[in-house]
Amino acid sequence: MDVKPRIARGRQFFANPGPTNIPDSILKAVAHVSIDFNDPAFLTVYDETVAGLKRILKTQHDIFLYTGSGHAAWEAALVNLFSPGDSLLVIETGHFSESWGKMAKDFGLDIRTLSADWRRGADFAALRAMLAEDTAHAIKAVCAVQNETATGMELSIAETRAALDAAGHPALLLVDTISSLGSLDFQMDAWGVDVAVAGSQKGLMLPTGLSFTGVSPKAMAAHKTSTLPKSYLHWTNMLGRRHKSFIGTVPTSLFYGLQESIRLLEEEGLDQVFVRHARLAEAVRRCVRHWSGNNGPSLFCANPDRYSNSVTAVLMPEGYDAEAVRKVALGTFNVSLGGGLNKLGGKVFRIGHLGDLNEPMILGTLATVEACLRVAGIPHTPGGVQAAIDYLAEAARAG
Ligand SMILES: *Cc1c(COP(=O)(O)O)cnc(C)c1O
Repeated sequence: MDVKPRIARGRQFFANPGPTNIPDSILKAVAHVSIDFNDPAFLTVYDETVAGLKRILKTQHDIFLYTGSGHAAWEAALVNLFSPGDSLLVIETGHFSESWGKMAKDFGLDIRTLSADWRRGADFAALRAMLAEDTAHAIKAVCAVQNETATGMELSIAETRAALDAAGHPALLLVDTISSLGSLDFQMDAWGVDVAVAGSQKGLMLPTGLSFTGVSPKAMAAHKTSTLPKSYLHWTNMLGRRHKSFIGTVPTSLFYGLQESIRLLEEEGLDQVFVRHARLAEAVRRCVRHWSGNNGPSLFCANPDRYSNSVTAVLMPEGYDAEAVRKVALGTFNVSLGGGLNKLGGKVFRIGHLGDLNEPMILGTLATVEACLRVAGIPHTPGGVQAAIDYLAEAARAG
């Protein structure tokens, strides 16, 4: 018998924390013919989707949208608010807080970092102390990543706000919600967030290429005196346009997708969306905890109060390479897992559990990862999937 090598059939299980699975109805919506972005038919869709994004950000403030990935919105926040030499306080969470800080340095900003252990997270008492010490109010903004996608840890934005208030510090609060918006609760106005940064390809389940910022009146006031060079991302230039965003052509197809994304999220109900994410995340954690016996892979996040409900980083046992697991997952079983970023390269693999996801997709992914551990010869306690099944069945029975 002349058996050809295996090739992938069936659907790829895409368990990356971004981009995420795109629902079929969004794929269909995005496949829209070209339309003039000033056509009244499109303007109706545009205005409705911008209003929908405000409901999801939980804000009454302006939002500005960009054709670009999350990095473009990061950059927009920096160049629109600051002047060379301004000081920013970055709360260290992991790869993404570090990258945002590096970008700020590239623009000539002065970066102070509240250092933190990537497995335990930042200490709010230390944050309060750093802010209280800055009696001259040199720190113009605090930059916080709500969900650190590299480590699988959530940072409480309410507590970050409380630290600023306790210190009586007037710094702006900038929050990256790129891997949390639409998956974990976020309340821009209630938490006093001045700039919320978000992107399309994670919780919003869209293709990559659209990002946006919610901007408070206090941030708009800071924008007026900012001198960093800007043009394409310039908020004042955008305000003069009909769309109050986009200096050039509006990516109309993505707005048809966004309209469907907002419809899906609101049909399910945002609170129910968060409950679903919490449930699936807990199933993943129970499974990984089971594997961790017998010197198996374990949860990278060592602070249970801060587990992320949108992504779990799985720490390999000493001496074993996470890339070996990912390679088997993709090459043999057609499951795409996230890799370790920055100093976690080879040390962790990441299971994304955000966006368009249900129990069978999670169970299929976990079962396959367990098979990969066996194939790659990684020590573990077999049967982790049973722990996930037990939890999900119990949750379903409880309603
Ligand atoms: C993905 C991600 C980014 C970067 O966004 P891009 O769309 O890849 O540019 C920034 N911050 C966080 C927390 C992310 O998860």
